Amino acid sequence: MGRLIKLLLASICVAFLAVKWTSPGFDAESLRGARVLVTGASTGIGEQIAYHYARYGAQIVITARREKVLQQVSEKCLSLGAQKALYIAGDMASESDPDKVVDFALAKLGGLDYLVLNHIGSSPFSMWDGDVEHTRWLMKVNFFSYVQMAWKALDSLEQSKGSLVIVSSVLGKMPAPFVAPYTSTKFALNGFFGALQHELSMKKSNVSISICTLGLIDTDSAMEKIRGIIDAKPYPATEAALNIIITGATRQLELYYPWSTYIMNLSKDWFPSTTGKKTCFFLVYLK
Ligand code: NDP
Repeated sequence: MGRLIKLLLASICVAFLAVKWTSPGFDAESLRGARVLVTGASTGIGEQIAYHYARYGAQIVITARREKVLQQVSEKCLSLGAQKALYIAGDMASESDPDKVVDFALAKLGGLDYLVLNHIGSSPFSMWDGDVEHTRWLMKVNFFSYVQMAWKALDSLEQSKGSLVIVSSVLGKMPAPFVAPYTSTKFALNGFFGALQHELSMKKSNVSISICTLGLIDTDSAMEKIRGIIDAKPYPATEAALNIIITGATRQLELYYPWSTYIMNLSKDWFPSTTGKKTCFFLVYLK
C-alpha cells in the first residue's frame, strides 16, 4: 500500500477516534422510566434495542406484524427490568397502521421520549428484475411509514425534549449491486431526515434526530440473504443495538457502526469509478 494511502487512512482513524472521545457522555440513569416506541422489534436489531432499553428500566412499546412473537419479546423485556412493556401489531405497508401504532404508544405511555424507527420489509438480495410494485411497496414500509410516524410523534417529542432515532444503512450512503429497492429506501431516509435535522435546528426545536448508519449485522434475515454470496464477518446485533440507543440518548446527529462504515462513507467520493463494488469490498475485507 502506498505511503500516501497509509497516511490518509491513519489520519482518518485519528480523526474518528478524536470525535468518538469528545462525544457527550452517556448517562444510563437518564433512560430509567423513559417512554420509548421501537418498531421492527419482534426480531433482529429491534428486538435487541428493546432488551437494552428494558435493562435500563425504560417504559417500552414495541411493534411489528407478528403478535405472538411481540408478546414473547415484551415478556422478556419485563423480566429484564422494563417498567412497562406493551406491544401492538401493525403492518407498516398499511396507510393507517403507522398512525395507529404511535397513537397507542402516546395513549399508553402518556407521551414519548424516544421514537426508534427500525423496521424494514423483506427484499431479495438479487439483481433488479423490473418489479416496480415491490419497489413501491418497500418504499411504503421502509420510508413513508417512517415519515408518517415521525410526524405523528413530533409534538410529543417536542414537549419531552425527546429524540427520533432512524436506523439506516451504509447502503443508504453508497449504492451496491443486488439491493436496488432497499438502497433506494435508505437513501430516501437519509435525505428526508437529514433535511429535517436542519429544519428542526433552524426552528430551535427541542427534538434531536439521530441517523444510524450500520454495516453488516448478524441478524438472521441479513445472514440468510448473503449466504453463499458474500463471505463476510458480521457485527453483533446486540452491540449495534446498544450503540443505537447511546447515540439517541446522547442526542448525536449520526452513528457509524462499525467504524469502517465511516471510512466507506468518507471515501465514496474519492474513488467514484469503483463506487458500485466498493461496498461489497469493504463488507468482505475491512474486518
Ligand atoms: P430484521 O429483518 O431482522 O427485522 C425486521 C423487523 O421489521 C422485524 O421485527 C419484522 O417483524 C419487522 N417488519 C417486517 N416487515 C414489516 C411490516 N410490513 N410492517 C411492520 N414491521 C415489519 O431486520 P434487521 O434487524 O436486520 O435490521 C434492522 C434495521 O437495521 C433495518 O432498518 C435495517 O435496514 C438496518 N440494517 C441492518 C443491517 C444488517 O446487516 N442486519 C445492515 C444495515 C442496516 P415482523 O416480521 O413480525 O413484522
